[in-house]
Amino acid sequence: MTIRTRFAPSPTGFLHVGGARTALFSWLYARKHGGKFILRIEDTDLERSTTESVNAILEGMTWLGLEYDEGPFYQTHRFDRYNEVIEQFLDAGKAYRCNCPKERLEKLREAQMANKQKPRYDGQCRGQHVDPDAPHVIRFMNPQDGVVVFDDMVRGKVAFQNSELDDLIIRRTDGSPTYNLTVVVDDLDMDITHVIRGDDHLNNTPRQINILKAMGKQAPRYSHVPMILGDDGARLSKRHGAVGVMQYRDDGYLPEALLNYLVRLGWSHGDQEIFSLDEMIELFDIENVNKAPSSFNTEKLLWLNQNYIKSDDPARVAHLLSSHMGKLNIDPAKWPPLVQVVAMQAERAKSLLELADICAIFYRDEVEYGEAGAKKQLRLVAVKPLNKVREKLASLEDWSRENIHAIIHGVADELGVKMGKVGMPLRFAITGGVPSGDLDLTVYLTGKEASLERIDKALGYIQQRATD
Ligand code: GLU
Repeated sequence: MTIRTRFAPSPTGFLHVGGARTALFSWLYARKHGGKFILRIEDTDLERSTTESVNAILEGMTWLGLEYDEGPFYQTHRFDRYNEVIEQFLDAGKAYRCNCPKERLEKLREAQMANKQKPRYDGQCRGQHVDPDAPHVIRFMNPQDGVVVFDDMVRGKVAFQNSELDDLIIRRTDGSPTYNLTVVVDDLDMDITHVIRGDDHLNNTPRQINILKAMGKQAPRYSHVPMILGDDGARLSKRHGAVGVMQYRDDGYLPEALLNYLVRLGWSHGDQEIFSLDEMIELFDIENVNKAPSSFNTEKLLWLNQNYIKSDDPARVAHLLSSHMGKLNIDPAKWPPLVQVVAMQAERAKSLLELADICAIFYRDEVEYGEAGAKKQLRLVAVKPLNKVREKLASLEDWSRENIHAIIHGVADELGVKMGKVGMPLRFAITGGVPSGDLDLTVYLTGKEASLERIDKALGYIQQRATD
């Protein structure tokens, strides 16, 4: 049997972290078993579904690298098929037309609530003739007795009494099919073997199993994944900050860090924290996902992000960084090569936004000197060392790290001072106090012309202060 999983978002908003985690789990399960992962857009709610949301979902999936083998399939393209099933149900007496007025349904509901009963339709139109040409809905005839039992791969055995369920609407008055019907028909037609979804759908599962049974079909395996809570224990929502995955991209997160974070939300493998995609595919198992909700922890995500920025191939980080550099109005195609700057700076940043900030200094036309730092570093004692270094750098023909290193050390020796007396003002002159790596590398990457200009600016600054 080929394992087939799916992700079936409703396009009523962006791809949020809860959805992304469900998609990841489904994707991993398919990849682990050499199966297929299908994307289905559940857009039957015409009022709330938007093209922007579809695009946001597709963009999020692409950014995370959750590539699908089939789809995207759109439910709005499949109305004929849903109607075919509904007509078959009507013909076989497994569904019926209902024209109960709204007021009656409301009264029924109120009475049930007053009696502390779960509100449910009472089957009034079962066996009644309802004019097919007048407005009506179609209801599925749910069995009235017995239990629906299924073995959930996350939650174990789950049972629902049929007496708790009612005859749910499968086609609205406007002729559109409803979620529980469409999902069943699609999972069946798309040969889905494993349904992995949020546990907010747990109550729908017995209804879907009953519909499947009425079609004479077997149910797939179900896994209901617990929800994600915010740091404060409430269900994760916009209130907790970024919840759409593209916001994480804009905030400077690496997709691999977010995936690593999401896989660990409710799942673990010993005390391992870092998982490459290959390791996730190898080790992840839906049956080990925790039943209890997990809490989103931004600090931990940031820690993972820092880890990936540091350990990923600098070429990949530079690739992801370039759009953030662009937002700072910097063209990273200019000297120095961004990949070399990244290799030096990566360990100093928790996010690509921070990294962009500390890489930008190598591309700016001018360096800014903050008051406090300049007062400390750019003093009269620095004039001599800066002048000497400037002179030697100016006549350096072979602009290499080694030669720059030799110059800085040579000047300290020549002046009979400790390295810091030369290095500290020089570093400040070049970077304006932005953290960077080894000084010779910092100067090297700044380039000859810019280094000389910045030293001149620092010398000018000292002179200005001395005469003030
Ligand atoms: N379309 C549903 C949702 O976005 C998911 C349906 C399912 O996974 O069965 O919540």
